[in-house]
Amino acid sequence: MTDPDRASQTYNPATDFMQPPETVVIDGHKAACDGGGGALGHPKVYLEVGDDGFVDCGYCDRRFIQRGGPADAD
Ligand SMILES: [Zn+2]
Repeated sequence: MTDPDRASQTYNPATDFMQPPETVVIDGHKAACDGGGGALGHPKVYLEVGDDGFVDCGYCDRRFIQRGGPADAD
């Protein structure tokens, strides 16, 4: 049996806030992501940074930022 209210009851803003999507700075404009393997892994995909200087992985929400690009804070 599943209780539709259970998900909202277990939602914890404090702990969720401590786990933001991972960001990875890359050289160049192409990245490969497999989720890092393990439980969070996914089939390897190749991503290309757009004009904004970053690209998000559609599987694991990691954000790849091109070093020196518009989205690179440094
Ligand atoms: Zn990924």
